[in-house]
Amino acid sequence: MIVYDMQAAGTSDQTVTGDRLQAEVVVVGGGIVGRTAAFLLRARKRDVLLLDDGAADDDVPPVGFGHDWVGPASWGNAGHIATEQVRPLAGTSFLLSAPKRLFVLGGALDLGWRRPGAWLPWAGRMVRACRDAEAGTRVLSALLSDAMPAWHRLGLALGMPDMVREDGHLMLWHDPAACRTGMAAWRAAPTGTAGIETLDGAALREVAARLACPPAGGLRMTGTGQVADPVLAMRALRRAFLEAGGRVLGARVRTLLPSGQDNALALEDGRVVRAGQILLAAGVGTATMLRGAGVRMPMVAERGYHLEWRHGADWPLPPLVFEERSLIVSRFGDRLRASSFVEFDRENAAPDPRKWRRLEDHVRALGLPVASGFRRWMGARPTLPDYLPAIGRSAALPDLWVAAGHQHLGLTLAPRTAEILCALMTSPEGHPGAAVPMPAPEVMAAIGPDRFGRRAMTGAPGWPRAARDEAPAPPGDILASRETFASPVPDESADHA
Ligand SMILES: Cc1cc2nc3c(=O)[nH]c(=O)nc-3n(C[C@H](O)[C@H](O)[C@H](O)COP(=O)(O)OP(=O)(O)OC[C@H]3O[C@@H](n4cnc5c(N)ncnc54)[C@H](O)[C@@H]3O)c2cc1C
Repeated sequence: MIVYDMQAAGTSDQTVTGDRLQAEVVVVGGGIVGRTAAFLLRARKRDVLLLDDGAADDDVPPVGFGHDWVGPASWGNAGHIATEQVRPLAGTSFLLSAPKRLFVLGGALDLGWRRPGAWLPWAGRMVRACRDAEAGTRVLSALLSDAMPAWHRLGLALGMPDMVREDGHLMLWHDPAACRTGMAAWRAAPTGTAGIETLDGAALREVAARLACPPAGGLRMTGTGQVADPVLAMRALRRAFLEAGGRVLGARVRTLLPSGQDNALALEDGRVVRAGQILLAAGVGTATMLRGAGVRMPMVAERGYHLEWRHGADWPLPPLVFEERSLIVSRFGDRLRASSFVEFDRENAAPDPRKWRRLEDHVRALGLPVASGFRRWMGARPTLPDYLPAIGRSAALPDLWVAAGHQHLGLTLAPRTAEILCALMTSPEGHPGAAVPMPAPEVMAAIGPDRFGRRAMTGAPGWPRAARDEAPAPPGDILASRETFASPVPDESADHA
């Protein structure tokens, strides 16, 4: 099994040497969110240093040789640009349907009972957040409304307009009754800028011809799409960033540092990095760094799994969502990837091979074309209790910014997140001259990184341990005023990705 080795990764330093490191902007985290932000900031001529503790880009194991692989979500996601998922999963319908989604009953939801401490406190907050699903829907709708255009803008900036395919996705059911219920639920649900069409007979026959058993029916979502290949997109971003003069350092950040008027980070290897601005985009790892600075970010690792293999066939279909199996199947070139599962556990706990076996059962039962061995992957979505991302400025350091907690939508929202941050970081007044539209102030307040509370710091030496005194949550704390209850969202709607 190949596991991202956090310690050894420090040796993959390609462009930066020296004991004292400095940059105008330091971006921590080389996932899709951090990379995109680093690239856009560099495109605005900022001196940007990207820090990441992951493996080198070329360490992604090839498909077809039976490799297992554990790594950040940005490498293993389903590639779906999910503009339709405007309802946060923190909603009453998800809670009510949770029992029948359980892994032991054949579903995709696994509550890690061996380590309840890893997620139970978070779950309590999530249940409270469900009371404000309507507000959450407004926030996600605003962010997702520009997600697809932002991906197109990024594709153009990279000189790769084909990196995004905007040809929708299909949702399929095999059981006729489940099909009727599922289709009705989706038609009644908010889907943002995405449209819904019933799959006509010819389209359904085209899908059925590629499966072992014909679906009873399905829907076509329009206005959604996919990234042509998430791994290639990750590599292209890094390459473009370096070619534009950005710097990359393979190193693990230990903590934020107290430093008076300055912004600074301590690395695990003992070095200190100083920066005019720091952007934390380290996925699940972001919460630990912020905790050291007194910012409460209740992040959970929502682990997911995929199988990937060569299909060896003609496969012209867009992403397929098999709703009853909570499974999404996406094509990346000559490969298919089947992704599923929401597993609550410690980020670094060993993968559960039963998930991969279940995925293989799905692949065989559906009769998907398989022309190679499987590559098996597991990684963790960074998820906050309200299922909204944290994007914006934190008051913990003089010029500290955060982009994390994108849960099931990190790929979808990465370019939009990066655009927002670039505009704000390069013009604190809100970038009046920004070429892209900015979200409304109430949206920015709802996704503020300090919304879960912050402790005042004494400023004394040894600052991380000197944290005291609860500071009140900022006015934008959407958890504080939750009164309304969510209306139903489609069953099995969102835990496939
Ligand atoms: C099975 C599955 C399917 C998914 N499908 C989709 C989909 O179809 N569409 C979609 O929009 N989203 C999808 N997602 C979610 C999406 O992949 C994530 O939201 C997104 O990748 C998060 O990106 P990120 O950059 O915030 O974090 P990550 O990808 O986790 O990257 C964080 C980076 O920070 C580094 N790091 C962490 N701590 C430190 C530290 N202390 N010092 C230095 N570096 C550090 C890590 O090594 C890593 O490289 C899926 C997720 C899963 C698991």
